[in-house]
Amino acid sequence: MSRLTSSIGLKLALTVLVPLLIAITLISGASAWRETVRYSEVKKSELTATANVFASAVADHLGSGNRADALLSLRAIAAIPQISYVEVVDNTGKTFASMGSGVVLGRTGGVDNELTLIDLLRGISVKIKTPIRKSGAVIGTLALVADTSDLRQRLMSGFISASIIAMITAILGLAFSLRIQAGILRPIKNLTTTMNQVREKQDFSISTEKSSNDETGQLVDSFNDMLVNIRKRDRALASHMETLEETVADRTKELRVAKNRAEEATLAKSEFLATMSHEIRTPMNGMLVMSELLAGAELAPRYRRYAELVMKSGKSLLSIINDVLDYSKIEAGHLDLEILPLEPDGVVDDVLSLFWQRADDKGLDLAADISTDVPAIIEGDPTRLNQILSNLVNNALKFTETGSVHVTIRNLSKDENSGQSQLEFAVHDTGIGIAEDKIDKVFESFSQADQSTTRNYGGTGLGLPICKRLVEAMGGELKATSKTGRGSTFSFVLPVKILKSRNPLARQSIGTNKKAVIVLPDGPGAIVIQNCFEELGISVMRVAEEKDITPEWLSADYLVAGPQVIESLALKITKTLCVVVSQIGDFDADSLIQQERAHELLMRPISSTGCRDVIARIVDGKPRGCNSRSTLV
Ligand code: ADP
Repeated sequence: MSRLTSSIGLKLALTVLVPLLIAITLISGASAWRETVRYSEVKKSELTATANVFASAVADHLGSGNRADALLSLRAIAAIPQISYVEVVDNTGKTFASMGSGVVLGRTGGVDNELTLIDLLRGISVKIKTPIRKSGAVIGTLALVADTSDLRQRLMSGFISASIIAMITAILGLAFSLRIQAGILRPIKNLTTTMNQVREKQDFSISTEKSSNDETGQLVDSFNDMLVNIRKRDRALASHMETLEETVADRTKELRVAKNRAEEATLAKSEFLATMSHEIRTPMNGMLVMSELLAGAELAPRYRRYAELVMKSGKSLLSIINDVLDYSKIEAGHLDLEILPLEPDGVVDDVLSLFWQRADDKGLDLAADISTDVPAIIEGDPTRLNQILSNLVNNALKFTETGSVHVTIRNLSKDENSGQSQLEFAVHDTGIGIAEDKIDKVFESFSQADQSTTRNYGGTGLGLPICKRLVEAMGGELKATSKTGRGSTFSFVLPVKILKSRNPLARQSIGTNKKAVIVLPDGPGAIVIQNCFEELGISVMRVAEEKDITPEWLSADYLVAGPQVIESLALKITKTLCVVVSQIGDFDADSLIQQERAHELLMRPISSTGCRDVIARIVDGKPRGCNSRSTLV
């Protein structure tokens, strides 16, 4: 505050004093100038008149050459104060007579007869010259040197009086400015004190007193108004705070009621859907059985086709109803998972056998690749796992025209002794794929990647949402990766409890340098077989056709191939153990076994489990084909 006071005070004092002093200085300077000019004019005319008088007084004496009389006249001039030197010079330039000190001539400034202001101020003597005339003719010159130092004295006294006036005026100005300061600064000081109190005590009920109606008065008014507004706002805030809790509680109650109602409505809807689908399913099953019986009965081909059509349509209707039933059950919160011992590869094999015919009809390779470290038995819900995998394999087959579909199970846990495991289930296909921007949409209910999907492939768009919810209920997350035109992979990782680990075949029991030849079309099935041999340390040559086998591999220990290849190689590979790859209803393979030309039978769809069992038996020297033919078919 003192800084504010001093700075405003100083400014006010300077505002009054500076112009005052400048005005006084200017006025004093102007009057000194005027005084000097006037002095110069008066001095010049005085000296010129004196010079003229004496020039006529010495004219006769100069004319007659009477120097003594001329000196007498000059003495009279020299008696005049301020004239320090007088001199009479004849026409030849010689000094005829002079009086006073000649030295002054040396410090005489300016041009003769000219009184310059500068010279006057410097206090230098001035010289006046006038011609001496006799009978009209110029006979010589009279020169006067006068002292001008009295001007400085005059100016000095003028300056002193101007300074005294300036001092008196400055004191008066200062007193005046202090008076004004008091009027302005007191209210500001009061205002600042009040502001500090408000700030320190946070007390907005204080106000400051107004002492004038000028700008400082307005400042005080504005500040007081501001405090009034703050008080009002504080009161409003306080009352709002008081009612806020009540309002929030009211709103929450309303929202809870609305939420409960919405949930009840959804539940009722889902329950209605579930009941309805269930009710539809019962007569549907009856219709299906009847249509199946009808299609199997002896009918004219035309009517059999009708009956088959009814059966086919009934089946697809039943699958839709099953989806709706499942979905509504999940929505209604009736999804209960069972906890049972579950064989992962058994579930996969079941799914594969269910879809093998369809894959074969489309010319697709269907296989299952299960890592050796996947536990033999885990805890889980086999029915629901089967449902998820069936759904994914069904989709994969639906959206794949050429290539393959294969299921993999991998164990992602490194710690084998923890009793827990993270199993990754995945279904891969080489089908149409899903565009990147549509991939997340396929998990939404009733949503399909493409509008044309329904037209081309049918479906409700419920399969994946159901799978997703089931996987989530099992503690995993269903994910999809895909490349348009290249295929898709749907995968999920489940945390599982291990009930029994797998006992893989010991490598030592096989012996070293064993070799196997696989002659099968390229695809996941052939790769699964190759992996099963290689994981036991058996070297593998895998080719698509018989002609690609190099001669040294003809002596391989094992041959895995279709019936035709085994038959055609039979004579060349007498020491080789042959595994014929077959499928249900393939009588060629059966007869090869019966003729003991093949030692084992590997049924399509190929899965690692089936393949490992076959290898274990032939390595053990107990192939099914040699010891118990009856079990083969
Ligand atoms: P639906 O198959 O009955 O239409 P889904 O929920 O099973 O319903 O699948 C939703 C959509 O996801 C399908 O319509 C299809 O567009 C896409 N989709 C699912 N699986 C695949 C797949 N393997 N390849 C390509 N598209 C797929």
